[in-house]
Amino acid sequence: TTKLPPLQRCLLLVSRRASHLARQQYDVIVVGGGHAGTEAAAAAARVGAETLLVTQKIHTIGALSCNPSLGGVGKGQLVKEVDALDGLCGRAGDWAGIHFSILNRRKGPAVWGPRAQLDRQRYRQFIQSELLSTPRLTVLEGSVEELLITEPDPEKPGHHRVTGIHLANGSHPISASSVVLTTGTFLSGSLFMGQTTSPGGRIGDAPSSAGISHTLRERLGLRIGRLRTGTPPRIVKKSVDFSQAELHLPDSQPTPFSFLNTRTCCKPEEQLPCHLTLTTEGVERVVQESLHLNCHIHQDTKGPRYCPSIESRVLRFPGRKHQVWLEPEGVNSELVYPQGLSMTMPPDMQLRLIREIPALHQAEIHTPGYGVQYDFVCPTQLSPALQVKSAQGLFLAGQINGTTGYEEAAAQGLWAGVNAARWALHMPSVALSRTESYIGVLIDDLVSRGVTEPYRMFTSRAEFRTSLRPDNADLRLTLKGFEEVGCVSSIRYQEAVRVRDTLHEGLAALQALVLSTPTWRKKLPDMGMSEAKSTVLTGMDVLQYKDMSFEMLASVFPESLSHYMEFSQRLKIEAVYRPHCDRQKKEIERIQKEENMSLPQDIDYFSLPVSLSQEVREILDRVRPSTLGAATRLQGMTPAAIVHLLNYVRHSG
Ligand code: FAD
Repeated sequence: TTKLPPLQRCLLLVSRRASHLARQQYDVIVVGGGHAGTEAAAAAARVGAETLLVTQKIHTIGALSCNPSLGGVGKGQLVKEVDALDGLCGRAGDWAGIHFSILNRRKGPAVWGPRAQLDRQRYRQFIQSELLSTPRLTVLEGSVEELLITEPDPEKPGHHRVTGIHLANGSHPISASSVVLTTGTFLSGSLFMGQTTSPGGRIGDAPSSAGISHTLRERLGLRIGRLRTGTPPRIVKKSVDFSQAELHLPDSQPTPFSFLNTRTCCKPEEQLPCHLTLTTEGVERVVQESLHLNCHIHQDTKGPRYCPSIESRVLRFPGRKHQVWLEPEGVNSELVYPQGLSMTMPPDMQLRLIREIPALHQAEIHTPGYGVQYDFVCPTQLSPALQVKSAQGLFLAGQINGTTGYEEAAAQGLWAGVNAARWALHMPSVALSRTESYIGVLIDDLVSRGVTEPYRMFTSRAEFRTSLRPDNADLRLTLKGFEEVGCVSSIRYQEAVRVRDTLHEGLAALQALVLSTPTWRKKLPDMGMSEAKSTVLTGMDVLQYKDMSFEMLASVFPESLSHYMEFSQRLKIEAVYRPHCDRQKKEIERIQKEENMSLPQDIDYFSLPVSLSQEVREILDRVRPSTLGAATRLQGMTPAAIVHLLNYVRHSG
């Protein structure tokens, strides 16, 4: 214990005390302290449930198993939504971030991807201290050996009920009304390096007990699949020749993830840079030479398509140079994370490979890369509340549902925790729709379509992405989170109400600013308004010009607008997207009303006289959805295509 840093030492003592104090009955038990488990436990406690979080090691709670980063395109939207529902990861990212950037900035704000490079240690510390100070939440170090499940009720055949857990240390069982399983890559986990395979969920950590897999598979009869992923070697920072790589600086003004924060913990000038380099022919040669020594690459389980190993990249695209990002692991860390070099060949070959890259020609490996294979539960067996359909009170979240990534895990964890608490407290379950959140898109994709490979979020998965922007996640979710779900604190709620009201007022002030086009032209620099047809324009209209900022308008009309300067960027975004969102809102309402409209099964999608892309026609022809609602949920469908389809069927019928 004394070798641990002070916070961890304190946590261990608290956890030991907690284990003595652990009761034998909880409302909710959460198994696993990864990204899904921590959000689930905190959310369940916020909803009002007495909650127990059991995890193998207290000091790995909130560990970033792979890349030290959070957010990105699609994933950043999830972080903002988790934050809007009072989750932890956004605030943890603001506390631990050391390099902030908004990805996709050249595109519209709807698809911007807030992202941060993180200090691993600081991220864990934040999550751990938050959990230990959460009311109604007890944290217990231990390994769950088995789930306690009742036999099906004869009145409701096939329906088991979860009643608690058994710990591996043989202590008494602990009962609960609901259990959230978030075992990540640990369920029947095997680690791969070269020709060596060993049981494990992550390097240094044992896999989850075989008892849990057995219960899920044999007693509950769940369909279980197998997936894999991998991680790169960690490189000693002082052995890297950064002069041979391209410098990438963070944004000069870091943008916080959390709606509660106006600034990040790391000052702008304290941020650390990243570096970009490329693979060489030598890298390809080493991959080829090591293939016969690399058992992971020969397995036919599916790995993450968008985060492939260097072996897969070289085999798939021979002769190509691949990007390698050299990312800092923390402020005081002596390590560098080479994103793009996930590999599972033997350690001596890993060293040979990285030294084929100019910036790494003298690099030393601190920890070799490795692969992991694990069981996942086919998520179509879950309800939209993430409850196992055949086992009352059992909820699953995170990598166990076939997803990959911290953000996807956190989002599911929060929602499973909310619903597990509501189940335990006899409240109805709650759902998020695809039209109001990326979390809704994620859960709907999982439970209605299932997964065949590790699932990650992209903005293209959200049909209504112009409404589901990172900047407005609080307006979409915080109010509902407080009023209907019960997982948002009143402090956050009051702030969201203030923001909503001020934005409404600001938009009304812009709308009320009505001037003739010549007057606008006289007052403002020419922003292409000479082409404006209308003779009168509102402030809202004027803000839609690309180079017109709210600040410019407010400097000309300070008496009407200066009061709203705090929200200048949000008002600009709202003004730009407002007409589109209004149109989309109407379309959403129409589509929702017509969800059950039948689509004729003999329809010839290729000759429909409406504006549909060839891709959409092919999807419709292949799947032949029976209703408009089913068509909406098809991957690759766009809201515009659905509206065209709706109009066609309505008029032809
Ligand atoms: P985890 O973060 O894995 O947490 C699971 C938790 O459950 C752990 O705390 C564990 O100790 C605990 N636990 C398990 N079984 C028990 C039990 N029986 N009793 C008590 N506690 C238990 N993601 C990417 O997006 N891209 C990648 O390239 C990528 N590569 C990865 C490579 C490796 C080698 C690993 C291990 C993970 C990788 N990830 C990657 C995945 C990323 O780590 C996960 O997506 C994310 O951590 C999932 O969160 P989770 O909460 O579901 O599970």
